[in-house]
Amino acid sequence: MKSIYDYTQEQLINEFLLLDEKKFRATQVFEWLYRKNIQNFNEMSNLSLDLRQKLISHFEIGPLKIIEKQISKDGTIKYLLALSDGGLIETVLMIHEYGRSLCVTSQLGCNMGCLFCASGLLKKQRDLSAGEMVNQVLTVMNDTGERISHVVVMGTGEPFDNYDQVMNFIHIINHAKGLAIGARHLTISTCGLCDKIEKYANEGIQTNLAISLHAPNDEIRDQLMPINKRFPMDDLRKSLQYYIEKTNRRITFEYILLKGVNDHIIHARQLAHYMRGLNAYVNLIPYNAVDEHGYQQTDYKDVEIFKDELLRLKINVTLRKEHGRDIDGACGQLRAKKVGESVRGNHSNE
Ligand code: SAH
Repeated sequence: MKSIYDYTQEQLINEFLLLDEKKFRATQVFEWLYRKNIQNFNEMSNLSLDLRQKLISHFEIGPLKIIEKQISKDGTIKYLLALSDGGLIETVLMIHEYGRSLCVTSQLGCNMGCLFCASGLLKKQRDLSAGEMVNQVLTVMNDTGERISHVVVMGTGEPFDNYDQVMNFIHIINHAKGLAIGARHLTISTCGLCDKIEKYANEGIQTNLAISLHAPNDEIRDQLMPINKRFPMDDLRKSLQYYIEKTNRRITFEYILLKGVNDHIIHARQLAHYMRGLNAYVNLIPYNAVDEHGYQQTDYKDVEIFKDELLRLKINVTLRKEHGRDIDGACGQLRAKKVGESVRGNHSNE
């Protein structure tokens, strides 16, 4: 059965027409779901009993099951949620001065295979539907009783490997008659699928794009991120240039500092060179160590040297504040811990 959260307002209207229902009924349901935050067809009091029954038999509705919740001292909440088929995903709520930001998972597992990442420990089992992403937002809003103002598609998975569902998700939560989360408060983070970056450039929306770069040259990026063999840094740069020209938006480069791998002052200079002429800034990320991978966090003083060199070269740079250090902070760590043993066992047999 499809989830009621899978549909943009326009799609829901079509679906209602197919069910022989009036257009405005779809709009009413959309408002109940996203304006009034009702998660039960029986509470939609302006619908007839018949219609409510029909909806119950056609669509899944209701929050995802919260399996575990870790609350950090800084207010970050990491949720382990169960999808209706039992698949487990992580969703992380971060409290900022500017609002509440949710880090949403886009796939069950991930196939990009970045060597430093906990998510990639578990291969992709399937894509998430738009509704399963929408429901992460609804479930957390309901659990905390507070509005979510920002969404980053930066949880487990590669959003551009699940392009259509992620775009539907963006449209649903951005819709003015729905959750109305502003486009400028929505960010998609990708490891760099060039064809999809160009497609995204043509969507005509004012959302943000973040690129997981993590390396200053192809030699290092090839080692860390297998995707670089398919889309090397020159190609990536061309796609980004196209995106920036089309959208007039500034992009973010994410750069995890890994001790002795990509954190030398020479790497800062190469990075600055790569970014020259791109409307972009770089967000330096302290590495969240994953036991299985053996990479280490760069020492604080070396982070400062790297950052100062970028500043000296007139590159806009920020240092990401770490959230939830005291809980299983790294993407996928909580999930990997829960389902890891059996699945990892399987992988070693592959
Ligand atoms: N596939 C997308 C989105 C998911 S990863 C992408 O690559 O952007 C989200 C971000 O977390 C990426 O920048 C990723 O490189 C980073 N990340 C993964 N593992 C990490 C770790 N252990 N510590 C810090 N950041 C990590």
